[in-house]
Amino acid sequence: HAKKLGGDRIEVFRPAMRAQRTDRLAVEMDLRRALERNEIKILFQPVVRLEDRTVAGFEALMRWDHPKHGRLGPQEFIGIAEESGLIVELGLFALERTAQELAAWQAALDIDPPIFASVNVSSRQVLRHDLLQDVKMVMSRWGVLRGTLKLEVTESVVMDNPEYATQILNRIADLGAGLSLDDFGTGYSSLSYLQRFPFDTIKIDRAFVRPDAKGVRPIILRSIVTMAHDLGMEVVAEGAENEADAVELYEMGCEYAQGYAFGPPMTALEARKLVGAATTEAA
Ligand code: C2E
Ligand code: MG
Ligand code: MG
Ligand code: MG
Repeated sequence: HAKKLGGDRIEVFRPAMRAQRTDRLAVEMDLRRALERNEIKILFQPVVRLEDRTVAGFEALMRWDHPKHGRLGPQEFIGIAEESGLIVELGLFALERTAQELAAWQAALDIDPPIFASVNVSSRQVLRHDLLQDVKMVMSRWGVLRGTLKLEVTESVVMDNPEYATQILNRIADLGAGLSLDDFGTGYSSLSYLQRFPFDTIKIDRAFVRPDAKGVRPIILRSIVTMAHDLGMEVVAEGAENEADAVELYEMGCEYAQGYAFGPPMTALEARKLVGAATTEAA
């Protein structure tokens, strides 16, 4: 189930990593130093408002520029980061960098609604770390406007410890951070999550966005969109790869889409240029 990163380097690295436990340990040791060596990068992928094709926001996506293995995608190291606990530090870095860019976009652009940014958080950050404090800290440090910093969580976060997750997610929502249910439609997707947790956005996994031979996916897609709207949530579709996808998603009533049709994950500077906010040097 390898996701493509637009390069073959990963394929060379991946089997080697799987083969040996010691390789995982080596990666973990490298990862410990990756942050201080500035090897961790946050890219930003545009999320487009389908109605007028303007950039509504960005999703922050982590990369590791490994000195030996080249640019690695999250599937190559997030698992190791979670197991080792390093995800807490990496996740805080992603939050910090995202809030910083959010502040830059908002300072340069006087648009309403303001541009948003969403950051992926893993269940370990939610359940075993004071995520609430981190979110509060970056929001106040960067003067983030209410509703413009969103956290993306998958249902695993909610499933691992529903009582605690409910508390934390409600308190994060009270701070003025948005909450998106990521990869909706994969995994177990109990609909009770939608009722129980304060999500304002559903992100439909790209598995439901690609046309299928039987033509059932449009039906599922339409049902998800209707349900989300009836629950007062907005919908972002992932993986809109071409114009046909974009048109279909718009016709289905999705308000936002993200995918190669609109732009790949890009550097902070490229993102600033895209929205016309490149007035200062991006980090
Ligand atoms: P995700 O949150 O579902 O992110 C969307 C993934 O789809 C990204 O993969 C993105 O590059 C890819 N994508 C975007 N547009 C298209 C498209 O048109 N077609 C196709 N085929 N793919 C597209 P990426 O960057 O490799 O990230 C993979 C996953 O890693 C993310 O899935 C997210 O769950 C996780 N992740 C990324 N950054 C972080 C992070 O900072 N913290 C944590 N905890 N997880 C992260
Ligand atoms: Mg995501
Ligand atoms: Mg997703
Ligand atoms: Mg996904």
